[in-house]
Amino acid sequence: MALEKYQNLLFEKIKNQLSQWFDGNIDDLVAYEEVYRFLHSIKGTSGTVQLGGVLIVASKLLEQLESIENRLWRKNELRDFLFDLIRLSYDYEHFKETFLEKDEPCCGSIPLIQIIDDDVSMLILLKEALEENGWMVIANTEPEKAASQYYDMQPDCLVIDVDLPSKNGFQLLEDIQQHNHKQFIPKVITSIQNDRKTRMNAYESGADDFIEKPIDIEEFIVRINRQLQRKQIFDQSVMIDELTQIYNRRFLSDLLERYIKDYERSGVPFSVSLLDLDYFKNINDQYGHLTGDKVLETFASFLKENIRSTDSVFRYGGEEFVILFPRTNDEEAKEVVKRILDEFSKVTFMEHGDHFNISFSAGIYMANNHEEGSVEILKKADQALYEAKENGRACVESANEAVQPENKILNVSVIDDDAIIRTLLVRVLQNMDTSKVLLNIESYENGEKFFGAGRLDEKGKHFLVLDGVMPVMDGIEVLTRVRESEHADRVHVLMLTGRKTEYDIARALKLGADDYVTKPFSITELQARIQRLIQRMF
Ligand code: GH3
Ligand code: MG
Ligand code: MG
Repeated sequence: MALEKYQNLLFEKIKNQLSQWFDGNIDDLVAYEEVYRFLHSIKGTSGTVQLGGVLIVASKLLEQLESIENRLWRKNELRDFLFDLIRLSYDYEHFKETFLEKDEPCCGSIPLIQIIDDDVSMLILLKEALEENGWMVIANTEPEKAASQYYDMQPDCLVIDVDLPSKNGFQLLEDIQQHNHKQFIPKVITSIQNDRKTRMNAYESGADDFIEKPIDIEEFIVRINRQLQRKQIFDQSVMIDELTQIYNRRFLSDLLERYIKDYERSGVPFSVSLLDLDYFKNINDQYGHLTGDKVLETFASFLKENIRSTDSVFRYGGEEFVILFPRTNDEEAKEVVKRILDEFSKVTFMEHGDHFNISFSAGIYMANNHEEGSVEILKKADQALYEAKENGRACVESANEAVQPENKILNVSVIDDDAIIRTLLVRVLQNMDTSKVLLNIESYENGEKFFGAGRLDEKGKHFLVLDGVMPVMDGIEVLTRVRESEHADRVHVLMLTGRKTEYDIARALKLGADDYVTKPFSITELQARIQRLIQRMF
């Protein structure tokens, strides 16, 4: 259609201007007239090419601009000012008029489902169906990657296709089950074979449900929902962590509330310590997850044996533990934790004829402020833990002594050749509510610029929102280079791929992308998704 061509030209014009403003030095200022001219011309063109929404927004912005005095604009300010226009341009360009904004997904405890299937079209189909249902999905084609993501992300339900070629699905199921029999996560098996032997094999290997292919999507959703409900009931009813046989996080909040009350009554403060094993991922990578599990079990019983009978120890998550010290100040608590660190570092683990030691870092916080609730208290201890990690690990820091608690930093890079998307995502990320982490956000128009800037050398974890198709060094090439780099395990990659490019999705997952989103995406959904991913990463 002729009009579409002119509409596209308008979007090109917007992109060029955005690129000129926001890809250059962020500290340069933008002249008032420049902004005025831009909005004026968008207003003119959008009416002509029948982009009514853009016309309305551009007119509104122009009006606002006219009521402001003539001055120079800082770029971040300008990006905020233009946000509605940029967002609308994106929606128009990708969804045309048919686009309907869905309800904003809430962020808290949306279940995470992990699907492992080497059949990419099946994977895409199931992922879409589950996501439409409001759940979050990570998808893997490679069993090795799947296993490590399973430990990293701790999904609430697993869907495994047992007809995997490289590592048999049953094998993967059994590997996970060896860990999983102590950590309830429902496992749903899918298979094209539906004979008695395959089914029995599945249940014997720990399956909670067996679904034959071809899959009836509606029924699939109902059955997954059932598993998620079971998981929720389970989580709510247990207080002991199955793997380590110590209290779990749920009981921690109960007890912490009681300690806060005791402190309010008695005025005697209590202390909390958050402990995190150092370089634990290396143990998993080098000796396998079962050895990792063994280390966790040993560590938990070591902690139990080395605290006073009035103190209590909890598994906070993954390889993080909490000790509560009732009626104890931070100095005393620090002494205890330091002593435990000394002793535990001497414990030698034997594995595959090899031996190794492992240390931990710890943060301490003494609750001495009646205003603080359990969340703030744990956050303070976590900040001190972060400082201990920063100070070289194998040490104990106290938040009460710290002058300026620092936030954790996550480097977020948006790599996309479309300037509207870049500008949009940067603005969305800047406004994201990430209480625990400070985002250091940059955008790049292609992979060459990303690597050229030495971005991966920046300290801390990295999160990449990576466009699959770019003219200069496309996403797949960037991903390959990232995975080959020495920083590989600090980088989490979310790929943006074209809806119909099954081949690209397959390659992205094979090359180790952690997740993918198909273009065009809904901004609100992508925002919610990134927020949840970040929460899971820390
Ligand atoms: P750091 O010194 O910075 O803490 O490094 P790290 O490698 O210990 O920290 P990171 O948070 O990167 O990795 C923690 C790993 O713990 C990731 C995950 O695979 C693993 N993990 C979490 N839960 C379990 C579990 O139950 N069993 C096993 N074996 N591994 C787990
Ligand atoms: Mg950790
Ligand atoms: Mg650790």
